[in-house]
Amino acid sequence: MYKVGVVKLTSCSGCICEIAYAFAFDDILSNYNITYATILADVEEMGDVDVALIEGSVSSKHHEELVKAARAKAKFVVAVGTCAVLGGIQSLREGSDINTVKKAVYPNPEYIDVYDVPKPVADVINVDFALPGCPINGDALALFLRKYALGGLPVAFYESVCAACKRKGLECVVVSKGIPCLGPVTNAGCGALCPSFGRGCYGCYGLKYFDLNKEKLETFTNRLIELGMGRDDAVALLKGYGFKSYSTIVKGEKR
Ligand code: SF4
Ligand code: SF4
Ligand code: SF4
Repeated sequence: MYKVGVVKLTSCSGCICEIAYAFAFDDILSNYNITYATILADVEEMGDVDVALIEGSVSSKHHEELVKAARAKAKFVVAVGTCAVLGGIQSLREGSDINTVKKAVYPNPEYIDVYDVPKPVADVINVDFALPGCPINGDALALFLRKYALGGLPVAFYESVCAACKRKGLECVVVSKGIPCLGPVTNAGCGALCPSFGRGCYGCYGLKYFDLNKEKLETFTNRLIELGMGRDDAVALLKGYGFKSYSTIVKGEKR
């Protein structure tokens, strides 16, 4: 039986729901035992585990300690969801004054001790596997757990949402309706969910930063502007799920 620890950081908990879904399969339950999950039981410290699933972005020193402790106790660490992989929608506050943001949300902002901008988990510890998505696809997590129990990892295809969209035979919303869509620059994994409903993709699986460069991103941004978006809105959309991947591409850095 493999032991699993679930660490929750700053997030909406949507990915926790998908984790719960993945662990509802009989074959997953017969191979895995969740021995630590702050959201499910009041356990002080995580013991040694085979797999740590980390959901949410790192927003404070306390979070840094939690993920470092998880790294020390786990044989294999998985960043679960776009918050954990890229920083998530909390990244939208990048460029804003953190005190103004806190005041807008909390009646007593002085109690809130958070970083100006959240960090992806991989900025703090080495991560062995990443499952992006906002939320993740619970079936993808179940697939990972099945493969891990067999001694392997799922085969990853680094393609864009457009590839899935075309395989499904969907009408392109950009071409047919002039709707902005981030499909060309977004990681696949959702089965082109939004275009399936006639909507443009807004990038919740994160930018495909590993095969984008500054010039390609600028060309794509200009295409969004041609479709009627203001530049600020286009940039906010592109960096909405992880400002760091956006700025990494723009600065030409490697991640
Ligand atoms: S990735 Fe999205 S669904 Fe998952 S915890 Fe973060 S905000 Fe919620
Ligand atoms: S609708 Fe979006 S995801 Fe589908 S082909 Fe067009 S740009 Fe790509
Ligand atoms: S189409 Fe884009 S925004 Fe919609 S679920 Fe997929 S990755 Fe997320």
